[in-house]
Amino acid sequence: NVHKEIEELKSLIRDVPDFPKPGIVFKDITPLLHKPWAFQKVIDYIGNRYIGLGVDIVAGIESRGFILASALAYKIGAGLAIIRKPGKLPYKTISATYTLEYGEDKIEVHEDAIQKGMKVVLIDDVLATGGTMNAAIDLVEKLGGNIISVDFLLELTFLGGREKIVKRGYPVFSLIKF
Ligand code: AMP
Repeated sequence: NVHKEIEELKSLIRDVPDFPKPGIVFKDITPLLHKPWAFQKVIDYIGNRYIGLGVDIVAGIESRGFILASALAYKIGAGLAIIRKPGKLPYKTISATYTLEYGEDKIEVHEDAIQKGMKVVLIDDVLATGGTMNAAIDLVEKLGGNIISVDFLLELTFLGGREKIVKRGYPVFSLIKF
């Protein structure tokens, strides 16, 4: 029973109030990662949708996105692209800036991480406002990648991040919704 399994996975997400700052309820995915069957289920649920679709690259966003992206890339036999915080990548990069509640942030990717026309799946752990993922989409678009889905382990639906991504023409998938 899929619904029951998703509920079980959802129960393994821990709320940590006031982290990293007062007023934020942090969705901690580590209890889920600690359970072998749960991590495997998550990757299977997300990855089985791609069997036979010829995905070239799974792109993960630093840092919890890497955990999901690497397991997913391995499962579906795709390459892995890493989208990182500024100054971490050693080779030539392109970057995208996005606005936060206070100020700006930036992410980068190697300019040769994705070739024009490659089929790309983007993944991160949490969809909140969508700001981070929208900047990641900017990067993949700049490199000419063909984004076939934007995936999350969990989505905070009340923040409306999904609409911003759907508006750009990309399907959004989240396994768990709050
Ligand atoms: P956003 O750009 O607002 O969609 O935020 C997404 C990024 O911040 C993701 O990389 C998440 O890992 C992280 N994030 C935002 N809000 C939360 C939250 N309540 N709990 C855990 N991570 C969060």
